[in-house]
Amino acid sequence: MLYGVSQFAYLVASACFIFALHWMNTPATARKGVYAGVAGTAIAIGATWAAPTVIHHLWIILAIAAGFVVGVPLSRVPLTAVPQRTALSHAFGGLAAGLVGTAEYYLQLSEGGETLTAFRMVALIAEVLLGYLTFTGSLMAAGKLQEVKWVPQRPVTYPLQNVINLVLFGITVALAAALAVHPASSWGTVIFPVIILLSLLFGVLLIIPIGGADMPTVIAILNSYAGLSAVAMGFVLDNKLLITAGALDGSSGLILAIIMCKAMNRSFTNVLFGAFGQVTQAKATGEQKVYKSETAEGAAQVLEQSSLVVIIPGYGMAVAQAQHKVRELYDQLKKRGITVKFAIHPVAGRMPGHMNVLLAEADIPYTDLVEMDDINHDMPQCDVALVVGANDVVNPAARTEKASPIYGMPIIDADKARTCFAIKRSKNPGFAGIDNELYFADRTWMLFGDAKAVIGDLVKELAAGSGRH
Ligand code: NDP
Repeated sequence: MLYGVSQFAYLVASACFIFALHWMNTPATARKGVYAGVAGTAIAIGATWAAPTVIHHLWIILAIAAGFVVGVPLSRVPLTAVPQRTALSHAFGGLAAGLVGTAEYYLQLSEGGETLTAFRMVALIAEVLLGYLTFTGSLMAAGKLQEVKWVPQRPVTYPLQNVINLVLFGITVALAAALAVHPASSWGTVIFPVIILLSLLFGVLLIIPIGGADMPTVIAILNSYAGLSAVAMGFVLDNKLLITAGALDGSSGLILAIIMCKAMNRSFTNVLFGAFGQVTQAKATGEQKVYKSETAEGAAQVLEQSSLVVIIPGYGMAVAQAQHKVRELYDQLKKRGITVKFAIHPVAGRMPGHMNVLLAEADIPYTDLVEMDDINHDMPQCDVALVVGANDVVNPAARTEKASPIYGMPIIDADKARTCFAIKRSKNPGFAGIDNELYFADRTWMLFGDAKAVIGDLVKELAAGSGRH
């Protein structure tokens, strides 16, 4: 009876996870998606806890308390630090899978090893390998994104790197195969820790040749490894919910990584074996070119005369937390009957959907957010393209300069607008570390300063202007 109830609870939890992902598809239902995910997790924990095999309840209480101690501060990080926060979550997930696999192996061995079939052993090794690899790989990724001192930011390369990685992988597979053939043998107690050490090492070796720019994509790939590790754990523990949840996690991570690679025109192999950061370093030291600056007053006058204004937000808007001021500017322009659209680049900011989340936070109507491919048709008719802390995603070098590290990345055509105002604090390059021709173009004027302050000044000018009319 209890078994039936727990299996039904697992089914409900699986349905919650599927609905959670489905509702995350649009901002209108995203909040519902979060609640469904939380409900699914709570049901899964409750059903597992109620199983008669669980006798040491104190351990469960301690684990839940530990989860709160780590999870609550993690939920308070600023939006700009979400990629590294996500990497840390994957690290914990990977570590949990690795530890469960290790405990299961030694437990079954201590009971004579009869239950350790070849299939179970393969699943166990997959769980341990992917779990520990995800643990160290995600820690390295988080360190790179957080710019931790002892983690090298730029790609670390050395001769025969891929060959060494392949040889180590070959050794691991050979050891795993030996263990799968003789799962209960006594020398397994020596081989198993070697597999763990190699997996931990793999995580580090996989990440060090990858530059910071590709790190968010790598995090999505690590997400899918963590999911696959949970699937393997599900087979080891004979738990269908873990298999379903792991498969959802694994496939969504993979799909996200593919979407990100496409949006940045990067191939998977490029991300995993390329050295993106090195190229960008060399390009950062270009010749000095001349910018044209504009005042808030001048820019406000041009904005007032416009029919169509396209606001292009980027990472700088997130840093400045300028979304609420942007909303005020939007209101000022709308009041004058001006059409205002937001051009959303799929990789603007530092995580997919970064700009959508910020603009939603400021209650900007979702219908005025336009995807890159759709807005680009309108850019030649656009009177003002207002670039708010975006750089790489509006860099025309992506269209023309074959040697550029962002060559081939689709961009928002801010340079095709009749006038372009670009807000940023300095002459520093963007994430890819390269100059941006848009800022030197004939039709571009710079509004130097913090995005929140500059937009605030524009709002003041427009508000004063309406008072004068
Ligand atoms: P960029 O990082 O290219 O540029 C951001 C710009 O904002 C900088 O030029 C910076 O200039 C400016 N800025 C920073 N702080 C402020 C501030 N307080 N006020 C005003 N301006 C500010 O951002 P984009 O959004 O254009 O591009 C995103 C980049 O991240 C792309 O290269 C993309 O490939 C990469 N990426 C994105 C991922 C995603 O999922 N979104 C994932 C992986 C990579 P200054 O310092 O002079 O102010």
